[in-house]
Amino acid sequence: MTMPTEGWDWGGIRGIILDAVGTLIEPTPPVAQVYTDAAFRQGLVVETSEVKRRFHQYFRVDEVDEQLGPLATDEATEYRRWRRIVSNVLPDLPEPDRAFAELWDHFGRSTAWRAFDDVGPAINAIREAGLDFVIASNFDGRLRAVVAALPALAGCEDRLVISSEVGFRKPHPAFYGVACERMGIPPDRVLCVGDDPENDVRGPERAGLLGLLIDREGKGPADGVMLPSLTELIRNLSGSEVGRRS
Ligand SMILES: [Mg+2]
Repeated sequence: MTMPTEGWDWGGIRGIILDAVGTLIEPTPPVAQVYTDAAFRQGLVVETSEVKRRFHQYFRVDEVDEQLGPLATDEATEYRRWRRIVSNVLPDLPEPDRAFAELWDHFGRSTAWRAFDDVGPAINAIREAGLDFVIASNFDGRLRAVVAALPALAGCEDRLVISSEVGFRKPHPAFYGVACERMGIPPDRVLCVGDDPENDVRGPERAGLLGLLIDREGKGPADGVMLPSLTELIRNLSGSEVGRRS
């Protein structure tokens, strides 16, 4: 595993873009369990492991489809996208409309999410290092209510950059451009931190930013710059000359 302190110009970094899902927050209970329960309420018994497999398959397939297109989005597009994913993961539901409405509402509630334990300390470390930051996500407008209610993300509501509001999804370069503009910092002084190699590392790098992979489940590629959690990011922020270069 490559550590980012090796050869990285931390002193040049002025701002940080944090991904949301998988980086700052995660669904609790897990997505597959919530889908399994929604199916069961309609008398449909599905193995949670099978639901999990399908979710990963179709979530990824849908992203790939989007990447073939213009990556343009809005709230209605995201709604349709999730509708496709749910109907692919649970194709045999007696009442698909009802299940989709339940799942849509569920993941819009803050009680369906938790912040990882290292998030509060990481945001404090970013603030103490004198860096600006935004939370930038392909999640839709529902993220606003979730962030507003989670204690670890208190005060971050006005730092949200959401693709359905911007008009482009990650990894479209325009998305990262908007996030940089929000902070008023040029892309080459901005570090993108997240759990998706394409959306949070390669996409940002193509747009002229730095990218850092947070690999919480230890399954990412071993050839890139990655950290197992935000705790190591905190160490790099507090033990270095971050943001001190003029
Ligand atoms: Mg993510």
